[in-house]
Amino acid sequence: MMQIAALDTWLPSGPGPAIISGPCSAETPEQLRATIEALAPLQLPLYRAGIWKPRTRPNTFEGNGEEALKWIAELKKEKGYRFAVEVASPAHVALALKYDIDVLWIGARSTVNPFTVQEIADSLRGTDIPVMIKNPVNPDLALWMGAIERISQAGITKLAAIHRGFSSFEKSRYRNQPMWQIPIELKTELPELPLFCDPSHIGGDRDMIFPISQESLDLLYDGLMIESHIDPDNAWSDAKQQVTPASLGQIISQLQTRQLNSNNPRFYQSMEEIRHRIDQADREILEAMAKRMRLVQEVGVYKKENNVSILQLARWKEIFKSRSEWAEKLQLDPDFARDLYRIIHLASIREQTAVMEEKKDEHAT
Ligand code: PEP
Ligand code: MN
Repeated sequence: MMQIAALDTWLPSGPGPAIISGPCSAETPEQLRATIEALAPLQLPLYRAGIWKPRTRPNTFEGNGEEALKWIAELKKEKGYRFAVEVASPAHVALALKYDIDVLWIGARSTVNPFTVQEIADSLRGTDIPVMIKNPVNPDLALWMGAIERISQAGITKLAAIHRGFSSFEKSRYRNQPMWQIPIELKTELPELPLFCDPSHIGGDRDMIFPISQESLDLLYDGLMIESHIDPDNAWSDAKQQVTPASLGQIISQLQTRQLNSNNPRFYQSMEEIRHRIDQADREILEAMAKRMRLVQEVGVYKKENNVSILQLARWKEIFKSRSEWAEKLQLDPDFARDLYRIIHLASIREQTAVMEEKKDEHAT
């Protein structure tokens, strides 16, 4: 059983989601100070600043290391601000503790590596500093949970998860695809674990921060980590996705927080009626699927008899194209139709394979 402290024991933030913000990287003392001072009126419970930056390619800005910790320490001493930094090694942990950093987070490129996570966990033993664990870059829930368990087993109870999306070779409107079902599953497995969304790294674009943040709050996330910068266009890392402190204020003021339940009794009655109609619609969908699958079996038999391959690329392409067009005419998201038909097509192939194997067995006997 994992021991998990309530979020407000280490990040008191009043009603609504807990919001953490600050620059992707602490670039210069002036940039850090100007950004944090411009954020101060928002009274956020915690600021972020990258000190060691895990960059994809070499010869780019990799953070200012210990030097930047001194700038943070100065701001903390002067104004009492609280800060979180990313740590990727025991040496980072030691320095962050030396400069009295309030919260640590483990980045997506570290969570992916159990050796790294274990080394970080071992270096945390005996402390009770809060640790936030970003999802690994690849969509692997077990790896994410494994990292959380390693930190927990080192005695850390002030834990949280950060959902920052998953990288993919496929082109998408997201920088890192959210794959919401993964964090939802994490929430189901560990309902006590506070869950944050990082819309900056999911979207990769400042215009996507509001809709992604709202979506996460609609899914009952506990907080947000959003990158902000005093001059985002000239940021040394992640320029496109950072917002000014003023835009962050606007985003926060437009966010709606939803509650789990309503005290309007009519709400439950209407919900029940609508859900009943949804149940009926689902039955119709499944009946239509069963009908489609029977047709697929017929095709399988016919292909077998004529010694024709299961996979017909031209037909597959045509289905993919026409179904997304039909979906669009029905005001459905064509991407949704493409995803759906990918699953249906795989099931059809499985069904036809079964048909072919069945036939083969009959001939053999
Ligand atoms: C970051 O928060 O700046 C960062 C590098 O994030 P991630 O680990 O999600 O890529
Ligand atoms: Mn960043």
